[in-house]
Amino acid sequence: MRTWTPPDLPTLPTTGQAPRLFNTASGRLEHPPLNEGRATLYVCGITPYDATHIGHAFTYLAYDTLQRAWRDAGLEVEYAQNITDIDDPLLERAAATNVSWESLAENQIALFRSDMFRLGLIPPDHFVAVTEQIDLIAQSVQKLRQLGFAYPVATDDAAGDDLYFDTQAASEQSQWRLGDVAPYERELMLLLSAERGGDPDRVGKRDPLDPLLWRAARAGEPSWGTVLGLGRPGWHIECSAIAVHFLGNAFTVQGGGNDLIFPHHEFSAGHATAMTGTPMAHIYSHVGLVSYQGHKMSKSRGNLVFVSKLLDGGTEPAAVRLALLAHHYREEWEWFEEDLITAERRLIAWRMGSSGSGTRHEGQEPASATQVIEQLRQALANDLDTPVMLAALDAAWDRGVDRPELLVDAVESLLGVTLKRAERL
Ligand code: ZN
Repeated sequence: MRTWTPPDLPTLPTTGQAPRLFNTASGRLEHPPLNEGRATLYVCGITPYDATHIGHAFTYLAYDTLQRAWRDAGLEVEYAQNITDIDDPLLERAAATNVSWESLAENQIALFRSDMFRLGLIPPDHFVAVTEQIDLIAQSVQKLRQLGFAYPVATDDAAGDDLYFDTQAASEQSQWRLGDVAPYERELMLLLSAERGGDPDRVGKRDPLDPLLWRAARAGEPSWGTVLGLGRPGWHIECSAIAVHFLGNAFTVQGGGNDLIFPHHEFSAGHATAMTGTPMAHIYSHVGLVSYQGHKMSKSRGNLVFVSKLLDGGTEPAAVRLALLAHHYREEWEWFEEDLITAERRLIAWRMGSSGSGTRHEGQEPASATQVIEQLRQALANDLDTPVMLAALDAAWDRGVDRPELLVDAVESLLGVTLKRAERL
């Protein structure tokens, strides 16, 4: 699928280092292996019906920052992102708002694309809608069935059987074990499964946690003709099939919001590992959820702050980036309007500092741009510590910098914050 125009990334005279990253699966900071100077990233994409709220932007910005760090370290980066453009919530929203699910998805994808462009995010190399890859996904389910990791569950109202993933068989006969990604007790898994698209109460399943791989066609629902007959794919297998097809197995980082740890990333990893015989990714990375008005931002509650509304209201993209980058990506935090005011003040201070019109401190030597860049890179390499980067830049611009043009380039390259030019529209 078409993406958006990439941002300019100024090249800096020296290179940085590849970051160590927190791995949810191990609970530790790790240096993922980077073979032949190449890093591969899969980030779960949106279900196109509530694009793009601040929580989404915080997640995609975290992986934009990771890519900037990798590129600064001289690595070649390959990045894939899906769009879940067929799923129950999309169909429900389309029915509730009396539009076709296709046009709802198309409009929301266009809005997402526009938001990502305006925020200056690096576009994926592979931006893949699920509806573009139904055959690929069905073949992956077929493979799991042939390997003995999928089983049918009869339905009353469909032409064929639904197919489910056999958690126990995969845990016993593949390199994946339930709990490899999500450090949760079974009780919590059952609860989260029910909350996040699973169906633990479905009759006929071998284990209540077993996730749907394939939903046989129902009257009035969209379906596709495939090797499995008429139907549509389950949620987790979409990402397993797309990620492995476009990036290969054992890719570097699988990323997404904290709410994807279970069941989505657990079972995406389970499917991919059972299918290929090797673990899906080296690092399972997760971004903190953003609250608003005292609750997690969520479509069901309706407490969403939309990027497009902020930008249409005259907020600069650089200010939105700074408001988000002020929080470490793993932090759970609450959005307040003051976050934006603080970011706007910071942007003005940095611009004044970089143009030499900031406060002058008598008798103080200006900061060395080279040394400040080194500080920025160290913070970036330490699990993308953007709050420390922002603090280092506050201090440097306040003090004055010996080569401001060099530091302006570094701020643009590493943080995507433009200080010198007119903003992108
Ligand atoms: Zn996914």
